[in-house]
Amino acid sequence: MKATIALLPGDGIGPEIMAQARLLLQHIAALGGHRFEFESRPIGGAAVDALGQPLPGNTLAACRTADAVLLGAVGGPRWDRIESVMRPEQGLLELRRKLGLYANLRPVASHPALFAASPIKPDRLAGVDLVVVRELTGGLYFGRKFEGANRAEDVCSYRREEIERLVRRAADLTIRRRGKLTLVDKANVLATSRLWRRVTTELVAREYPGLEFETMLIDAAAMHLISRPAQFDVLVTENLFGDILTDEAAMLTGSMGMLPSASLGDDGAAVYEPIHGSAPDIAGQNRANPFGMLLSAAMMLRHSLGLEEEALLVERAVADCLSAGQCSADLGGTLGTDAAGAAVFQRLSRAAA
Ligand code: NAD
Repeated sequence: MKATIALLPGDGIGPEIMAQARLLLQHIAALGGHRFEFESRPIGGAAVDALGQPLPGNTLAACRTADAVLLGAVGGPRWDRIESVMRPEQGLLELRRKLGLYANLRPVASHPALFAASPIKPDRLAGVDLVVVRELTGGLYFGRKFEGANRAEDVCSYRREEIERLVRRAADLTIRRRGKLTLVDKANVLATSRLWRRVTTELVAREYPGLEFETMLIDAAAMHLISRPAQFDVLVTENLFGDILTDEAAMLTGSMGMLPSASLGDDGAAVYEPIHGSAPDIAGQNRANPFGMLLSAAMMLRHSLGLEEEALLVERAVADCLSAGQCSADLGGTLGTDAAGAAVFQRLSRAAA
């Protein structure tokens, strides 16, 4: 197959892990006879430095015409003092908004080789295989804001349609998995959460009567995610709760560097990125774990390019590297970013031979 892939490396460790993703896709292309064309564009702090804005028009245009978009990470202390509209993170928020990427899928699966890297007890980690489906273009992050010297305000607002389109995505995914959907909200306090609960409960009863469906308050969910994570299948939630829960869930796998994500809109719009940030503390040192980025590329192969077999190959190669202890320092290994990537590519070639 032929596909154009926009690459947005971003800041900090972004370019280092993106280089590994590009190599991975070149391997996949060579193995399967595919033709991938890459268009690399700046975003975030790199774009502020080069072009004076965090999401240049040229970058957005490349994302709109590409078959899929891969993103590294944005941000860093260098840009922390600039005014809010010009901050690197605004580039990412704008990209999500402009492409209408309202559904963020974050799979979390534990691997026995990494149990020791997690602060959670191993007996709790066995069998963890869940997906958090987070609403990405509404709620507090996009509501009206006011910031004064002594008072500030962030408005949280959701409409029925925003909830329904996200819940349908989550329910469709749940059907293909173990059939259990958990809505996470704060319906005992927040009006928006009560709307989420009403709309979701009605929609699931009407359109997905076969699903096992439960609701859970965010504070309880935060606790159960640690105390009995293996009992979750698909969690669906609003923007802020999803942001926090997914970082918490990352610790089930042992490192922020492990988790991929897909941000999906309608009509095939999609951006794939690891959930971690730009890790300025280790940037430029060949220490970043590239696996979250490589697994994001696998999600892209599956969801945007329809290459399920290739996606599975990548996921198996990463899992085999973990089993063999071929990983970076954050997971207790000794490999640098390049060597960890190379270990995955070698396994890919062997599996396909
Ligand atoms: P972070 O995720 O960058 O780092 C948190 C910790 O995890 C650090 O100790 C870091 O070294 C480690 N870590 C993260 N990714 C890793 C990897 N691949 N391999 C090994 N270790 C890894 O979060 P932070 O320090 O809070 O934020 C740093 C910058 O990133 C900030 O400017 C923040 O705004 C930005 N950020 C960007 C995104 C994004 O681009 N999607 C997400 C979160 C934070």
